Amino acid sequence: LTEPDAETHANTGFRRVLEDVLNRVDREELVHLARALVRIPSVYRPEESDGNEARVARFVADYLERAGFEVSIEEVAPGRPNVWAVWEGDRSGKTLLFEAHTDVVTEGSAEDWEHPPFGAERDGGRIYGRGACDTKGNLAAAMVAVRAVKDSGVSFPGSLILCHPVDEEGMMAGIKAFIERGHAEGVDAAVICEPEENQLCIKQKGALRVEVTLRGTMAHGAMPQSGVNPVTRAARFVVAVEELEGEEIERHGEDPFLGYPSLTPTILMGPDCGEPQINVIPASAYVALDIRTVPDQSHRDLVERLECIIAKLASEDPDFDATLEVIEERPPTETRKDESLVRAMARAYDHLTGEEPTYNGVPGATDGTFLHAWAGIPIVTTGAGDREIPHHADEWVDEEELLTTCKLYAATAMYYAYGEEAHV
Ligand SMILES: [Zn+2]
Repeated sequence: LTEPDAETHANTGFRRVLEDVLNRVDREELVHLARALVRIPSVYRPEESDGNEARVARFVADYLERAGFEVSIEEVAPGRPNVWAVWEGDRSGKTLLFEAHTDVVTEGSAEDWEHPPFGAERDGGRIYGRGACDTKGNLAAAMVAVRAVKDSGVSFPGSLILCHPVDEEGMMAGIKAFIERGHAEGVDAAVICEPEENQLCIKQKGALRVEVTLRGTMAHGAMPQSGVNPVTRAARFVVAVEELEGEEIERHGEDPFLGYPSLTPTILMGPDCGEPQINVIPASAYVALDIRTVPDQSHRDLVERLECIIAKLASEDPDFDATLEVIEERPPTETRKDESLVRAMARAYDHLTGEEPTYNGVPGATDGTFLHAWAGIPIVTTGAGDREIPHHADEWVDEEELLTTCKLYAATAMYYAYGEEAHV
């Protein structure tokens, strides 16, 4: 009689408990839950009394309470509650957080939809509806995955958190409040559940939103010399921003996952308030910039360069009077491939599919931006759903892909918690 060596023993043990967990992932339960979530509209419409996330948050909380989780609910603004649940395994270890927002973008005009936007219709192996892809399918997958780990009764070294904030599609007030109120303390890593075709997104573009206000002097259009025109000065600024964009592209090149950085003027307005009139030089003008950055760009340097443009234009023209304000800053993020969450997820992906995962980047910011930038938490963004489909009419998610996502989340939790115990 020979004893199996310790490693083989641990391996067999881990494989067995992993299968116990994955066997708990039930396709019909997952589809049922995803459809139930899609049926509850959670578009933020402040002018409507239930135009918020309150109902879907209540539904998520009830589901998790019934499943035996300890659930917390905390309002970020009236009618806009974050929901989260913490589950602790029987052994101490690292804490992994799954984040999936509860809000969805507007459905637009219902006539543009073939499937009703909140009908959650099941057709040809797909679920249709606003949020099916971004991100209620993935929200359901995270809930079912963590529940599978808990209900399997396996020994689990660590803790799992389900975090479902409001307002991701707006100013991300939900995740910001979650972090500011200390709830992200002690979190070692986070999975951001967003539609990424189950690719492992380890980089995210950053975003800077900048407003520039230019002051002039109102005058009759027939006597321009008696005023100061802020419109032509705004135009000079916009042209200089285009040059700066070219320099930034030159400086940083093309990121393999994120492409090029961009500085895009999106609004040019004069006057910036009040009534425009064709024969009146306005007293003010306004320019808004939507700036998207790659990980090796510094937001501080960029803002300095914009300030330099304004200083240079002012040195050439004593009437050039402009002020710049950064109204939102979302830093770019990068998680290394050798980070333990990335390694755990790659092993989970290989276990489920027999293939290497595809790595990629996220072109926009997500709630993960703030978990990374404000709380220093390594993140990976992944989930089911076509990367191009979010915010479209007839948004959909493929059920089979969503089932893989759910298993990927569950297996990632296992590989991450077991770490070196999960030798292959
Ligand atoms: Zn989303």
